[in-house]
Amino acid sequence: MRKYIVIGAQGSGKGTQAQLLARDLDLVHISVGDIFRWHVQNHTKLGAQVRRVMAAGELVGDDMVEGIVRARLDQHDWNFGFVIDGFPRNRRQAEFFLESYDIDGVIHLDLPDAEVRRRVLARRLCSRCGMDYNLIADRPTREGRCDVCGGDLVTREDDTEEALAERLRLYHEKVDPVLELFGRKEYVVTVDARPPIGDVQRALREKLRLPPP
Ligand code: AMP
Repeated sequence: MRKYIVIGAQGSGKGTQAQLLARDLDLVHISVGDIFRWHVQNHTKLGAQVRRVMAAGELVGDDMVEGIVRARLDQHDWNFGFVIDGFPRNRRQAEFFLESYDIDGVIHLDLPDAEVRRRVLARRLCSRCGMDYNLIADRPTREGRCDVCGGDLVTREDDTEEALAERLRLYHEKVDPVLELFGRKEYVVTVDARPPIGDVQRALREKLRLPPP
């Protein structure tokens, strides 16, 4: 059983790296942001509660986030373990997690703020199937259309300059103490998130002493 957390600023590749790791090790990938986006897209009651907070780049309340994480992990479909991204995002969430679950490692994807801005403002998402694109590194074949399902590509509501500035500010204010807390327990491996996707994955596997991809 393996349990990992991926922490990194917006655009650092948390979701991508978590997915690659999960696929190879047969882990369940849990993205808290994706769960919230699903609720917003499907107009659930919870979606209505979080939509505005998300669009402004602010953090959803801890009780709600902890409830979502607990409900997801209570499904117990993670026989070989899980890799969770987007959580914990502050000290209280980190303490909640440490009380309930033991972890094998925290992967910190390190990306300078200037690169965060460059990447995030180029990010596009398929409105139908949720596939990610990036106008710098990962362009769709046809402009504005998803290669997989032909759906319209849109900008995430929280990927504007204004919301991003707020998310980055919050990231440093709230997540740095989380890294410090986990760091004290010697769980954290820091990986440079600037190289290509495959290189980052190789580096983090090496640091976690896992077989190469
Ligand atoms: P992400 O896709 O991880 O950037 O998450 C998108 C948005 O979902 C964030 O800007 C928050 O509004 C909300 N969110 C995701 N994870 C958390 C969390 N652990 N705590 C609070 N809000 C969260």
